[in-house]
Amino acid sequence: MIVKCTGCGASTSLEPEMPRECPYCGSPLDVPLELIRLESEERARKEDAQRRQEQEAKWIAEEKEMNKRWYHRTAGIVLLLFLFFPVGLYLMWKYATWPKAVKVIITMGFVVAVVNQSIATGTQGNSQDATTSIEKPPQKSLQTMPGVRAASW
Ligand SMILES: [Zn+2]
Repeated sequence: MIVKCTGCGASTSLEPEMPRECPYCGSPLDVPLELIRLESEERARKEDAQRRQEQEAKWIAEEKEMNKRWYHRTAGIVLLLFLFFPVGLYLMWKYATWPKAVKVIITMGFVVAVVNQSIATGTQGNSQDATTSIEKPPQKSLQTMPGVRAASW
């Protein structure tokens, strides 16, 4: 506890195990030892409470980290990469804590796969378009519909 010397006026922080005299002028500091001890215990209790509080805050933070949304976790991102890769790629870049090189390689892999697939379906799609356009019935022009003609008058 802080004690002010009656001799020189200096303030001294007294601990129970310290001699009860002023370190500056040597005057005896008339403070009951019991009071110093109580003050010291009180301070220790406060420090302990603060330490406990910090520990609790740390635990809460750790728990939050564990409860991260499932799609922010590695397993979730990998799953999404396979199920629906555009979302998986996005989440991977945004949340995964993987090295950038890994992310680049994965992204390139998907880009190559997509390009290959679009070339394959592109040639298929063209032939399909040709057949469907032939089968499509010609659309009636607006002029031949009586209702439209009446309205245009
Ligand atoms: Zn003094």
